[in-house]
Amino acid sequence: MASTTKTILLTDDMTAILDAYDYARLYRYKWRAVKHGRAYYAKTTVGVGVKQCDLSMHRMVAHTPFGMVCHHKNRNSLDNRLANLTNMTRQDHDMLHRNDTLTVKFSDGPHASPGELLESPKTNFLATKVKNPNF
Ligand SMILES: [Zn+2]
Repeated sequence: MASTTKTILLTDDMTAILDAYDYARLYRYKWRAVKHGRAYYAKTTVGVGVKQCDLSMHRMVAHTPFGMVCHHKNRNSLDNRLANLTNMTRQDHDMLHRNDTLTVKFSDGPHASPGELLESPKTNFLATKVKNPNF
């Protein structure tokens, strides 16, 4: 069965994309666009009072184990389709981005890479946001 892509609207008119399967279980949460470095991530808050905690959409989609990092393969931090995500150790993740010259050049965050985003038509919506001074 081909997977269908769905979108979830975040705060600041940002949009995250994900597979229909994950959309069905995650659309009920109230998602915010949270800036980390120059990249935005979809986050939600669960729990009550002191038990509250923030969860990232990409980590929920990839079922990232505690202590591991969820990497966006195409460097688009709001493309949360399962095929774009992979779980790895912090060391492997650091190594990956160390070889990632564009990321090093353009960003102060792990996934902020406007240059790379512009190269891929699929991720142009985020590249536009990056160039927009209002963000
Ligand atoms: Zn990464």
